[in-house]
Amino acid sequence: MIRVTVWNEFRHEKEMPEVAAIYPNGIHGAIADFLSKNEDMTVRTATLDEPEHGLTDEVLNNTDVLLWWGHMAHQEVSDEVVAKVCQRVNDGMGFIALHSAHASKPFSRLLGTRTDMLRWREDGDMQRLWVTSPGHPIAQGIGDYFEVPHDETYGEQFFIPQPDNLVFISWHPGGEVFRSGCCFVRGGRIFYFQPGHETFPVYYQKEIQTVITNAVRWAAPLYMPAYSTGWQKSVEPIHTYEDK
Ligand code: ZN
Repeated sequence: MIRVTVWNEFRHEKEMPEVAAIYPNGIHGAIADFLSKNEDMTVRTATLDEPEHGLTDEVLNNTDVLLWWGHMAHQEVSDEVVAKVCQRVNDGMGFIALHSAHASKPFSRLLGTRTDMLRWREDGDMQRLWVTSPGHPIAQGIGDYFEVPHDETYGEQFFIPQPDNLVFISWHPGGEVFRSGCCFVRGGRIFYFQPGHETFPVYYQKEIQTVITNAVRWAAPLYMPAYSTGWQKSVEPIHTYEDK
C-alpha cells in the first residue's frame, strides 16, 4: 500500500471565489479524490494553516509519497518543516511538485538551483504536452501527446538542474516550450509536473489524473537500505609503502 499525503497551501480557494467555485474542497481535495480511488493507495491531506502545516513527524514518517501545491505563500512555510521534508526525501520518500510548487522551498532546496526562475504569462492558452520518454512509467497510457485546453503558460528558461529523465515537454501557442515533466533522484524520487494553475479545472482532466497517479507509483520507495557513511574500517587489509 502506498501512503500518500497531498499538501496544499489552500489559500487561493479561501480568498478567491472563482477558485473556490472550481475547487470547493481545495486543490488537495480534488487530487486526493482521484488518487484515493486506487486500491494500492491510502491518501491523506495536509494544509499550510494546520499546526506544523499538517506535516507532523507522525505524518511525514508515515508518508511514502508527498505531493506539493503552493503559490502565494511559499515564504510562510517554516524552514523547520522544510528541513524535515527534505530529510525524508533524502531518506527515500517520493516528492511530486505540482505547477507553481516549482518555487516552493522544499523543491528549490532539494534541487539546489533557482527553481523559482522561469518565463510565465497568464492568458489561459492551451498547452500540448509531448512525451519525450516513451515507455517511461509516468507516461503510461498517454500516447504521443495530450493537450490541456486552458492553463497558465510557463516557458524556458527554467532554472533547474538537468533532469535525470525528461518525460514531457510542453508547447504553447505563443511559441514557448517548457520542460513540464521532469524526474530527479535525491535519495527519494522527485517528479515536477507543470500543469495546474488554480483558475482552471486542470486536476479534473483524465490525462492529468493518469500522469499524477503514475507519478505516485513511480515515486513510491521500493525500499531504502540502511547505508554506511562516515569513518569506516577498510574492507581489504591496507599495505603501507614499507610493507612492499
Ligand atoms: Zn499558476
